[in-house]
Amino acid sequence: MAETIFSRIVRGEIPCHRVYEDDRVLAFLDIGPLSRGHTLVIPKEPAETLDRLSDESAAALGRVLPRLVRAVMAATGAPACNVLQNNGRDAHQAVMHVHFHIIPKYPDGSGLGITWPAGRLDDEEGRRMAEAIRSRVAGD
Ligand code: AMP
Repeated sequence: MAETIFSRIVRGEIPCHRVYEDDRVLAFLDIGPLSRGHTLVIPKEPAETLDRLSDESAAALGRVLPRLVRAVMAATGAPACNVLQNNGRDAHQAVMHVHFHIIPKYPDGSGLGITWPAGRLDDEEGRRMAEAIRSRVAGD
């Protein structure tokens, strides 16, 4: 995969405002925050997207994400936050190295703005889709 700025941050070649680090995970402040305390959590493994990440790195991320969410909320006083993972260029991923955003949401509305154009799940389509996904999870 192509080298990204996050690999260079992991190697210490580019500075960051680090908030957490272990063998597999690094977290640091986003350089273009949507709100105060906007934090990025990345695996050190240079996988482009979440579907390409190893189980070991996924487990390491999952283990620390709740702790980091608690720390960001405690440090900022934000009563809520969005945890966002843009997966693929068509889903607004700009840096092709897996990362989770922790974006504090404040009472003044600052933070992540979302449009959520909800449809309505058709029962038959729901049965087919759930089976299609189930069989692939099982075969993975
Ligand atoms: P995404 O659109 O999900 O790929 O988001 C990439 C994020 O990385 C953006 O929010 C950028 O502000 C952030 N970013 C890019 N370069 C840096 C950097 N050197 N240090 C910290 N955050 C960065």
